[in-house]
Amino acid sequence: MAASKMGDAGSALAVIVGDPGERQSIRAALADWEGGPLDIHWADTLAQGVDLLVKGRITAVVLGLTLPDCEGLDGFVTVSNAAPQLPVLILSAVRDEGLAQQAVARGASDYLLKTHLDSHSLRRAIRGLIERTAVEEALFAEKERAEVTLNSIGDAVLSTDLAGRVTYLNAVAEAMTGWRREEAAGRPLAEVFHIIDGTTREPAQNPMGLAVQENRTVGLTANCIMVRRDGVEMAIEDSATPIHDRKGQVTGAVIVLRDVSAAREASLRLSHLAHHDSLTDLPNRLLLNDRLARAIAVAGRHGRRLAVLFVDIDHFKHMNDSLGHAIGDRLLQSVAARLTACVRSSDTVSRQGGDEFIVLLSEIERGDDAAATAGKIIESLAEPHQLAEHELHITVSVGVSVSPDDGVDPENLIERADIAMYHAKQQGRARFACFTSDMHVRVFERQSLEASLQGALQRHEIEVHYQAMMDLGTGAIVGFEALARWMHPERGPILPSQFVPIAEGCGLIVPIGQWVLRESCRQARAWQDDGLPSLPVSVNVSAFEFRSAGFLHGVREILRESRLESRYLQLELTEGVLMTQGASTATTLRALKAMGVGLAIDDFGMGYSSLSHLNQFPIDVLKVDQSFVHEITHATDAAPIVSAVISIGKSLKQRVVAEGVETAGQLACLRAMGCGEGQGYYFSRPLPAAHFAKVLVDRPRNIASA
Ligand code: C2E
Ligand code: MG
Ligand code: MG
Repeated sequence: MAASKMGDAGSALAVIVGDPGERQSIRAALADWEGGPLDIHWADTLAQGVDLLVKGRITAVVLGLTLPDCEGLDGFVTVSNAAPQLPVLILSAVRDEGLAQQAVARGASDYLLKTHLDSHSLRRAIRGLIERTAVEEALFAEKERAEVTLNSIGDAVLSTDLAGRVTYLNAVAEAMTGWRREEAAGRPLAEVFHIIDGTTREPAQNPMGLAVQENRTVGLTANCIMVRRDGVEMAIEDSATPIHDRKGQVTGAVIVLRDVSAAREASLRLSHLAHHDSLTDLPNRLLLNDRLARAIAVAGRHGRRLAVLFVDIDHFKHMNDSLGHAIGDRLLQSVAARLTACVRSSDTVSRQGGDEFIVLLSEIERGDDAAATAGKIIESLAEPHQLAEHELHITVSVGVSVSPDDGVDPENLIERADIAMYHAKQQGRARFACFTSDMHVRVFERQSLEASLQGALQRHEIEVHYQAMMDLGTGAIVGFEALARWMHPERGPILPSQFVPIAEGCGLIVPIGQWVLRESCRQARAWQDDGLPSLPVSVNVSAFEFRSAGFLHGVREILRESRLESRYLQLELTEGVLMTQGASTATTLRALKAMGVGLAIDDFGMGYSSLSHLNQFPIDVLKVDQSFVHEITHATDAAPIVSAVISIGKSLKQRVVAEGVETAGQLACLRAMGCGEGQGYYFSRPLPAAHFAKVLVDRPRNIASA
């Protein structure tokens, strides 16, 4: 039977009724339908009806129980199989009311007895069907919308029922868990959503149970890892929220989770940065302190020892300045790699900053083991470092401290290794030293001396003593050397060998040196004014002072102030000054020479001056170091060396002064070698100005008899 045109916007009703009279009644009853557009499609048989349902966009069905091709419930079963979602109104004879009720029990929406097939009842029943369809469609659309929403958010969403069985997963949850929604449905949550504690790797508490139990949103344990169905692990963050029905009863829970692997990795990277040196990627001071504290605790529990090695590159600053920081950086990286290769993986190599590295040997048998490692480090780092086109040769100094022997406090151990390292440097570098308690005293002494040296000049604690220099041939005094003394109020006189290195270390050598120079020039002039013999004064200048900015200007000013003629001033420099800064050293020396100031090389023979070098500088005097003079009467190399220096001096037209002459035997040797001048206790000790003035008047007695 033909169907009327289906409307797009309105409802479409399929009427599957065999009896023409009944169809007529229905048509009449719906003739002036008012509930919006309604298309009616007619079918006389079940087959035609099913055809309609399959093809058409039907909203609701009116189904007779007696059809030419089907009797009873079978018709309904066929219809509901063909279109399970459609509401069906059963039209039945009174005698079939039982069947109609069975149909309703199996999903039909309602039934109407043919005896009630009046306009009012039919319309009401059909309106009910159409409305129900509309509600279901709206629900379906709502569900679709929710579904799309859930699938479009980046988080995974899972829901469970009250028993903790999975009821739903969105697309992200499917991807993250590796379970498809259909497979997961009905399974226990723990099977689908398998989580463990990232640290202990024990199963983590599932937040869902707690959310249901306590009826509140629950966050997840920190550092949670989800194990996907295929075993892949990912760091997650999640929360669970209870679901309520309309009456407020909890019916299940929704779990929302997010893959935070990337974020957690980023935070791990940040923490790595905070604990490592960016240049070498070695642990930094922070991490070392932490590891050291742990290692001390562990070693303490097991009655074992550990060692701290303080490693410092010798003359690094010089290399860094001369080769450029890029090469300096690469050298540090090369050192880091070699250090790491020298120790066990359980040990820690850290960079403290600059050229300082600290190695923690977390477990050693005896103190000797640390010394062995220190030796290995020194050897390994001495191998050439090939950096681009540079082949660098370096040495390191290493200080060793051992716990518990030298302390059980991280800071203390590091400080003591540092002290030992400093000691190794003092001993000549390229070596290691193990901490001993007297080193500590020395460093402590150094610190306290430095503090009191700060105000020594202002407190007039610095004095100048004078020592005569003799002509070995005639026995005449030919000059005198100014030697500084620090008259410490508590410790008594402190010799320059003790305080000059400290003054050099803290820069105080510049004002102290200036003061000694000024005082010596003033004194020399004063003695001349008093009618004493006019003799040159020799003043020591340390390399540090010589290189300081205002040095030349200072000398000129002091000569002017003191009115001492420049030929009565001689400056004593060590070989080191000549070795270091070629060009500017020569310029300064020539300027001094031009001023008329005499120049002497002190402690000659101790440094590495080559003859060609000596030639370049306007030197007047070579002072032979006293260590050679003391040995001169023994069967050692000393005599030939002194003799060589004397001939060098002669060939370069330089005077030669033997320092530290203590005995008549030494004097006789020097005279026999043709040494021109001498200085030493044999003639006169360094004396305070007032005493020395008397020596100038009387002449030393010894020389007269010599
Ligand atoms: P130096 O310039 O070689 O001075 C000679 C040192 O030998 C002096 O030591 C002197 O007291 C000592 N001496 C002299 N005759 C003998 C002897 O027969 N036997 C022995 N064993 N020693 C003798 P001092 O005064 O302790 O000075 C040590 C060094 O300190 C000096 O060595 C000098 O390099 C430095 N110095 C002294 N005064 C000053 C100063 O004002 N400024 C700077 N920069 N350095 C200074
Ligand atoms: Mg000297
Ligand atoms: Mg000397």
